[in-house]
Formats: sequence, structure tokens, C-alpha cells
Amino acid sequence: MSNASPQITIIGAGITGAAAAYRLSQLGVAADVYETGSNAGGRMARSQLGEAVFDHGAQFFTTRGNEFRTLVEAAETEGATRVWTRGFGEAPDGYERWRGVPDMTALAAWLLAKSEARVYLESPVVDLGQLSASGIILTPPIPVSVSLARDSGLEPPSGLMGRLEAVQYKRTIAVLLVLKGSLRGMPADGGIQLSDDRDLAFITDNYQKGVSSRPALTIHLSNDASLDLWDQTDETIMNFAIARARSWVEVGDVVDQSITRWRYAGPVEVLPESSATWGQEPSLVIAGEAFNGPKVEGAFNSGIDAANRVAEILS
Ligand SMILES: Cc1cc2nc3c(=O)[nH]c(=O)nc-3n(C[C@H](O)[C@H](O)[C@H](O)COP(=O)(O)OP(=O)(O)OC[C@H]3O[C@@H](n4cnc5c(N)ncnc54)[C@H](O)[C@@H]3O)c2cc1C
Repeated sequence: MSNASPQITIIGAGITGAAAAYRLSQLGVAADVYETGSNAGGRMARSQLGEAVFDHGAQFFTTRGNEFRTLVEAAETEGATRVWTRGFGEAPDGYERWRGVPDMTALAAWLLAKSEARVYLESPVVDLGQLSASGIILTPPIPVSVSLARDSGLEPPSGLMGRLEAVQYKRTIAVLLVLKGSLRGMPADGGIQLSDDRDLAFITDNYQKGVSSRPALTIHLSNDASLDLWDQTDETIMNFAIARARSWVEVGDVVDQSITRWRYAGPVEVLPESSATWGQEPSLVIAGEAFNGPKVEGAFNSGIDAANRVAEILS
């Protein structure tokens, strides 16, 4: 255990921030993590309507790299992850799709618990200049991190700023439905991935997935449909999603519902480097899934890289 006072502050307790905290602990560097939300996980998100529980951001993750796979398997032995399925649809490809247990927030929470970082939930950072850190790792989506740095008078140099400002994000609207009775027509694993559907991207029955004790449907609109419907009323979006979902499953009576508009569902294109740094006292590192590989595993790898870089800069 490190007895040094914290020198590094991590903004965000999603998978990028959790990975960074974990690696800093391995390196013997103390860190503080500040998170706006009331739990870790970020866009690996959980939601609840009454007794119904939903994975309402990322639905699963893959493990291509050795380091990520090893950690996910270690988390599995402690009950925080498990393989959800080996492929969606009638001809599964056999490749493992993992999930958090009890829900998708679990992996980030597990990494933070394994780290020695101090985690401050419900603690949004509004001014980086107020932090007494010699290194700061920014992990929110790039536009959010860039605004925070700019508002704090710590913006990146113009060349990097231009590249960061050019990163665009796809949108996803998530529709959450609590159903009166059990759902008919779902595959046994409870997931339908719709790669070729114009309107929908994913349907999950969180009951069959094992997340919820009662039927709870997550419907992700496609990026195109999400963009088209972004400014429509919740009622319009809800009716659209239910009608389209009924092409795939028998959605019965809906007893409760909610909509989340994910403005930053994923980058359109990723930057080639794994993270980027600028400044001195504090040194800043910006990381996340927009660097060198999107999605959960890309975010994890970026968080590890960010921790390595900031530790090296400050050593
Ligand atoms: C709808 C949806 C579906 C997805 N599906 C998949 C999928 O199936 N598989 C997959 O691999 N990936 C999927 N993704 C992408 C995946 O969720 C992300 O790539 C990954 O979770 C990003 O993690 P992150 O830590 O970089 O960012 P985030 O998870 O966004 O974490 C950043 C954290 O920073 C916090 N924060 C922001 N501002 C501040 C501040 N000022 N102070 C303190 N904290 C702050 C936020 O609250 C957040 O918790 C999906 C994303 C969405 C939105």
C-alpha cells in the first residue's frame, strides 16, 4: 500500500478512469477519483424503475487484448463479470461477449475497489485549477473534457486542441420499458443485436440477461434513427421504439418507461494515439474510448496508457 499523499486526480469513474486508478495503484502512485454520478461505470450504466433494473448504456464487452482479458477473468473469479453469450442470433460466432455482474457498472467498480484510489462520488469537478494535483487525467467524452480544461484556463495547445475538437460522436437513444408479463420471442440469452436494421441497434431483456428480477426491456435506437428523432418528444420516440421492437419480439403491456438520450455514444473516428498530454504543474492527460480503439476495451487500454504516461512524467 502506498502511503504517499495523492498527486494524481482522475476525472471520471467510468472504465477509463477506473483502469487509470488501477494502474496507478500498481505503480505505487496514489490517486483521487472524482465522479459526477452516484456510482462508478459511466456509460457502462445501470438504471432502475421500481424493481426493474436495466443495463442502459453498453450492453456487453469483448476482450481482445491479453491485459484486459486477464483482468476480466480475475474479476470473473470474484463474481464481478461473466460471459453473457458467445454470439447473438441464430448462428453464434463463438466469440465471447462479457457482461458485468450484477450489471454493467460492476467492472469499473471492481477495478476501483482493487485500486488504492480514493473515490469521491457525486463530486463533479468544475475547475481543474482548484485541484492540488501535479497530474490530472481527464476521462469524460472529449468535448466534455475539452470544455472543462478550457473553462479552467488549462486548454491544450492549438494543434492538439484542433484535433480534439474534430472528434465527433454518434448518438444513441435508449428506451427502457418495464413489462407487465414476461416477454415472448427473445433468444435464450436475452439479447438481439441488429447490425442491419435501419431503426434499432439492440434489444435486451434484462430479466433473461439476469440483471433484473422482472421483465425489463432496453431498446437502443440505431445511430441514424437517434439523430433523426433526437429533438422529438419522448412520446413520439417511445411509440416509434415500441412499434419497431414489435417487429422482433412480442412486447406486451408496458407498465413503466423512460428514455435516455446518450449524446456521446461512441466516436465516429478514433485518434491514433492511446492518450494525449500537455502542460506542466499540473500535467494533463486526456484519455477515453476516442483514443486508439473505441468501446469498453479501447477505453480500458486508454486509461492504462494515461496512467503510465502521467506516472512517467511525474517520476
Ligand atoms: C448507449 C450506449 C451503448 C454502448 N454499447 C456498447 C457495447 O455494447 N459495447 C462496448 O464495448 N461499448 C459500448 N458503448 C461504449 C462504452 O460504453 C464506452 O466506450 C465506455 O463506457 C466509455 O468509458 P469512459 O470511461 O471512457 O467514459 P464514460 O463512461 O463516459 O466515463 C466518464 C465519467 O466521467 C464522469 N464525469 C464527466 N464530467 C465530470 C466532471 N466534471 N467531474 C467528475 N466526473 C465527471 C461521468 O459521469 C462518467 O462517469 C456504448 C455506449 C453507449 C452510450
